[in-house]
Amino acid sequence: MIDIHAHFLPQISQQEAAAVERERAPWLRIDASGETGQIMVGEREFRPVYRALWDADFRVSELDAQGIALQLVCATPIMFGYAWEPARAADWAARMNDKAVAFCAGHPTRLKALAQVPLQDTRLACAEARRAMAAGCVGVQIGNHVGDKDLDHPDLVDFLIYCAENHIPVLVHPWDMMGGAGRMKQWMMPWLVAMAAETQLGMMSLILSGALERIPESLKICFAHGGGSFAYLLGRADNAWKHRDIVRKDCPRPPSEYARRLHTDGIVFDPRALRLLTEVMGVGNVMLGSDYPFPLGEQQVGELVRGADFLDACQRQAILSDNARTFFRLNG
Ligand SMILES: [Zn+2]
Repeated sequence: MIDIHAHFLPQISQQEAAAVERERAPWLRIDASGETGQIMVGEREFRPVYRALWDADFRVSELDAQGIALQLVCATPIMFGYAWEPARAADWAARMNDKAVAFCAGHPTRLKALAQVPLQDTRLACAEARRAMAAGCVGVQIGNHVGDKDLDHPDLVDFLIYCAENHIPVLVHPWDMMGGAGRMKQWMMPWLVAMAAETQLGMMSLILSGALERIPESLKICFAHGGGSFAYLLGRADNAWKHRDIVRKDCPRPPSEYARRLHTDGIVFDPRALRLLTEVMGVGNVMLGSDYPFPLGEQQVGELVRGADFLDACQRQAILSDNARTFFRLNG
């Protein structure tokens, strides 16, 4: 199995974080046991975590137990730094990417890295993407928005065109969720409701803005968490496109015609959802993702796909590994 959606956070000291952004850069506080810790932001506890997040040897022992041959590792979104001063964020991204490459270096056949980029500055983002790919990353991970800029913003479209032209695969991850400080305060609602909407917003903004008409078809772009609400509500978008001119004014074709330009991971936890997802996106456009090592990920990685009796063995194999080999050019 190849798992294309998993996170790491390197051992960042409080001093290292404070030197960059005292209030906003994350750091890692490891408990005395060495087994557990906290992602910290300033003096605030952000998320309890365990050793797999920062310890590559330990992680590979868990991959062995799960039967994962290769895992792609990307930043935990709190590391993005998109709201920081661009040069500082670019320096940070380069440092985090070097740590990601070093994290994978001891297990080169088991772990590969996706880079982060300072997406608030397109020129710097392209430069870091190029540098990180040369350093050994196999793609980039970006957040689904930068402040009020969604993926249809000209700056972000320019970055995606750069990735398309330079064969840099892109994983889009939701982050900085809408409504998090208001009505979605409790019960992890930002993760359960807003994350799905953020991802759908990213995909719909690329489609309805006409951006996919300008971005070369060579773009390989994958959206996390099964594309959020996208597959389930694509019919609603098609209906709106047919009946409201303001929906189709920038988008020459029905939204569903663009689904085959996009990939998603398959982490949807319910066989009925996976069935719909594979029908809407196409079996060739869905890849195994775990969201490891966080508790909202699939605990037995690949269990949903392996148990999908509506897929034949070839299709399951495609989702579990072959699609990722093609998408990220992992052969050789
Ligand atoms: Zn994730």
